[in-house]
Amino acid sequence: MALKITEQCINCDVCEPACPNEAIYIGDQHYEIQPDRCTECVGHFDAPQCRRVCPVDCIPDDPAHVETPAQLHEKLLRLRASARDQ
Ligand code: SF4
Ligand code: SF4
Repeated sequence: MALKITEQCINCDVCEPACPNEAIYIGDQHYEIQPDRCTECVGHFDAPQCRRVCPVDCIPDDPAHVETPAQLHEKLLRLRASARDQ
């Protein structure tokens, strides 16, 4: 399941560099997560790094993007393949 950033975000900039998949970007009002790049940090870390560093705990699961661990791993492989092609 991808994660999402809520409007409680204070735009502190801490999570963006912590993401191993470059899934976090600054949106119109606050930072946001690209669901097609968020793997919950599967393949990189034991736990979501953005959630670990966020000082205001505003990164819940995104129920609109429910995925199994296997699907998250497949997403990671797709991201790696696409990085290789660039
Ligand atoms: S859970 Fe991991 S991959 Fe997903 S946005 Fe947070 S740091 Fe990036
Ligand atoms: S760490 Fe939390 S508060 Fe800071 S920019 Fe990221 S989501 Fe927003």
